[in-house]
Amino acid sequence: MENFKFKDMKINVPLSQHTTMRVGGNAHFFIEPNSVKKFVEIIKFCAKNNIRYFVLGNGSNVIFGDEGYDGIIISTKKINKIKIHKNIAVIDCGVNLFIANKIFIKNALSGMEFTYGIPGTMGGAVYMNAGAYNHEIKDIVQKVMYYTGKKIKIIKNKNTIFSYRDSIFKKNNFVILKVWLKLNKSEKKEVESNCLNNLKKRQISQPLEYPNCGSVFKKVNGVSAGQIIDNLGLKGLKVGGAEISCLHANFIVNKGNASASDVKNLIQQVKAKVKQKSDISLEEEVIIL
Ligand SMILES: Cc1cc2nc3c(=O)[nH]c(=O)nc-3n(C[C@H](O)[C@H](O)[C@H](O)COP(=O)(O)OP(=O)(O)OC[C@H]3O[C@@H](n4cnc5c(N)ncnc54)[C@H](O)[C@@H]3O)c2cc1C
Repeated sequence: MENFKFKDMKINVPLSQHTTMRVGGNAHFFIEPNSVKKFVEIIKFCAKNNIRYFVLGNGSNVIFGDEGYDGIIISTKKINKIKIHKNIAVIDCGVNLFIANKIFIKNALSGMEFTYGIPGTMGGAVYMNAGAYNHEIKDIVQKVMYYTGKKIKIIKNKNTIFSYRDSIFKKNNFVILKVWLKLNKSEKKEVESNCLNNLKKRQISQPLEYPNCGSVFKKVNGVSAGQIIDNLGLKGLKVGGAEISCLHANFIVNKGNASASDVKNLIQQVKAKVKQKSDISLEEEVIIL
């Protein structure tokens, strides 16, 4: 492992600087390829040499442990080309959703406004089938180019490749390379105001002034986990520097000095209390390593 050398590879990189929750130890190795081709080369190398790796987008839905990651973190943030042909956008996996939305506003393309304010990348959004305000990314995905670990393939969007906060990519650990989105021609002003309205809703309902990882738990039979947690009076519950937000009970906020263990312990406490008092088994939406 120590002999492994890729140009631009960094060593002992704090994962707290690459995740929105701002917790987690160091990545032993950290690399940011700037093209799909280099991305695939690195994964091939890892697979061939049995090196542990993890694909990281913007880190807005991941909690790494305090012990860090003993392997290679491959960040996609520099794989960020966007092409637009009429109402079809071809987007590299590392494109930030905020940037994509800005380009769609400029091109008067509607369909992805529901993601305005989700601090993720295109790859992360497709992997998680990100959603908000009764829309999911699956509604606008036309096809996806992905890497199986052996082959690069393209899959068309059929009903079977996505489900609630899940995808064929997540189920099989496939790596998303490029995404084709089918959008609708609209008016620039309308796309922009849809985006801004969605952002406003988030600013009112989410504790965005503190580091967080978005919704911690999935809905349970369509009922929001936040409602279930709030009903039990758990807002404000703390472990170390991690706290159940007093604004939104499905958010854990880092009040400044939380460790990954604080966050994980708080998640376990909430699950135990909800199980004990309501007989409901909450399931994490956030990816915990
Ligand atoms: C303030 C806030 C608000 C949020 N609001 C929402 C919301 O409204 N709706 C919602 O669904 N989510 C929301 N989230 C969660 C999160 O932003 C989304 O799930 C987002 O799509 C994750 O993208 P990411 O690039 O940050 O992924 P990461 O957190 O980096 O990774 C998440 C998972 O995706 C995998 N992954 C990332 N890129 C790839 C790739 N190219 N190929 C294969 N796997 C990949 C990672 O390995 C990991 O398992 C919110 C988060 C925050 C902090």
